[in-house]
Amino acid sequence: MTIPYAEVIGDPIAHSKSPLIHGFWLERLGIDAEYRAQHVTAEGLAEYFAQRKADPDWRGCNITIPHKESALDHAEDRGGLRDSIGAINTVLRDEDGMLIGTNTDAAGFYAPIADLALDGAAVGVIGAGGAARAVLFALQRAGAGPVTILNRTPLKGAALLAKFGLQGDAVPLDTPLPPVALLVNASPLGMTGQDPLQLDLDALPEDAVVYDLVYAPLETDLLAAARDRDLATIDGLDMLIGQAAIAFELFFGEAPPREDEEELRERLIG
Ligand code: NAP
Repeated sequence: MTIPYAEVIGDPIAHSKSPLIHGFWLERLGIDAEYRAQHVTAEGLAEYFAQRKADPDWRGCNITIPHKESALDHAEDRGGLRDSIGAINTVLRDEDGMLIGTNTDAAGFYAPIADLALDGAAVGVIGAGGAARAVLFALQRAGAGPVTILNRTPLKGAALLAKFGLQGDAVPLDTPLPPVALLVNASPLGMTGQDPLQLDLDALPEDAVVYDLVYAPLETDLLAAARDRDLATIDGLDMLIGQAAIAFELFFGEAPPREDEEELRERLIG
């Protein structure tokens, strides 16, 4: 007998934390299903989706590097994601057997800041890559702005501001921060093995929130500096767990239990 399953696909895939997160929730809810990591190369992507489309037990998959853009070629883009975020991180099969692409990163990013009054709020974003696109998508929908993008290549930041119709400015990384209400690090700077992120947070007001998407390490230098100034902080696991929670409900039809989140976070850090 087979059981329903979902997967995360990527190349490489061994590092993915998604099986741990979804497996934790499946176990807690007593759902008889599996969530697996599946190594899929760029050359194998078309065959993967063709096979899974025909497998009645397959509920869908999450998608990680390097397939977040190319997966759009194999799934319907009903939400116009190719022209906005430019990437999908989840594929599902609908009742007619069609593969549907979606992106839970933007909503996963937004969930921890949903209570902030972002309408018209000044925001700083570091980075102009894939994660920044999901962040800007969410900020645009929240009515945030002006948005200052600090990026090694300011032109890329300017292109994203124009794409998302956001007011603001794109500046080099060493530009002093404006007094933003929310500062988001959407670059790999500060991540283990990457260059450090050197920012002076002095200009931030006392009620500013600092949100680092990096989760390895969990306590980044940026978050430590924000805590030194008694600023509110949000770490990268919040978004990681948030995007997974939305995908989990799409795959398995039940919202994951969020009351055990501390235990899940400890397992993820361990
Ligand atoms: P990406 O597409 O590779 O974006 C890289 C961005 O960072 C670019 O804007 C790039 O600048 C800049 N950058 C990279 N290396 C740099 C360096 N040495 N010096 C200065 N700038 C540098 O990466 P991504 O997919 O957006 O991911 C960014 C971070 O977000 C990663 O740490 C990832 O783990 C994290 N993330 C977390 C979550 C979560 O759930 N918590 C989800 C997604 C991503 P240029 O434009 O000049 O190249």
